[in-house]
Amino acid sequence: MQAWVIGNWKQNPATSHDVKALLDDLLTAVSTKAQLDGCQLMVAPSLIHLTAVSERIKGSSILSAAQDISAHSASIGAYTGDCSAQQIADAGATWTILGHSERRQYHQESHDCLLQKMTHALTQNLGVIFCIGETQAQYDAKQTLAVIDAQLSVITDLLTQQPELMAGLSERLIVAYEPVWAIGTGKVPTVAEVSATHQHIKQTLASFNTALENMTVLYGGSVNADNADSFAADSMIDGALVGGASLKAESFLAIAQAF
Ligand code: PGA
Repeated sequence: MQAWVIGNWKQNPATSHDVKALLDDLLTAVSTKAQLDGCQLMVAPSLIHLTAVSERIKGSSILSAAQDISAHSASIGAYTGDCSAQQIADAGATWTILGHSERRQYHQESHDCLLQKMTHALTQNLGVIFCIGETQAQYDAKQTLAVIDAQLSVITDLLTQQPELMAGLSERLIVAYEPVWAIGTGKVPTVAEVSATHQHIKQTLASFNTALENMTVLYGGSVNADNADSFAADSMIDGALVGGASLKAESFLAIAQAF
């Protein structure tokens, strides 16, 4: 199975000059690393940089993604501050992240909001990296799997409402398991914990429909060049969604080489 290593740049870097420098480093590093076969790289810059980044990586092996899209179905209209799935695709991105815990936390993104966003993305042919994961309190209360099941119901509800979106979905949908307490903290669950959770995610989706049997499930949360090997060694972990360590070409590439 192909591995995926995706850089979520969040609200970074500060300037377009710094974005260009990071991308130049990344493209140079990618062109000199033969060992990246079997690992698909993707970067998700902030919206303001998405067009420039997508232009710059054209012809390379790197893909680009948005970090979010509008919840409104219209491709254009009076939605100040929003950007539609169609506009994202026009900017050159082929994927979007949805449901990142920072969006859930700071923008109160709910099940219904994410159901709408996922529908718009998939109907506009944008692939979706769908983020799920429990908070520290939920982890401590051993509620991880229950939280994940509730979050995965966005996918099962979508397919119940629109079964026609099922065709080829395992190539256009990636699940990223990111415990909220591991994001940007340097704390990580054990590989065994991540593996068991990934197995649960894969089984839950496969039991909903066998067409979802080979769902790609990434781990995210404080992945770095030092711990990537241990995650990569587990057959349930199909790659990584990387925040902080994706802002340096060297560490991002080291993670990609691990997978
Ligand atoms: P981190 O972020 O790698 O900095 O923990 C991961 C993420 O938020 O996707």
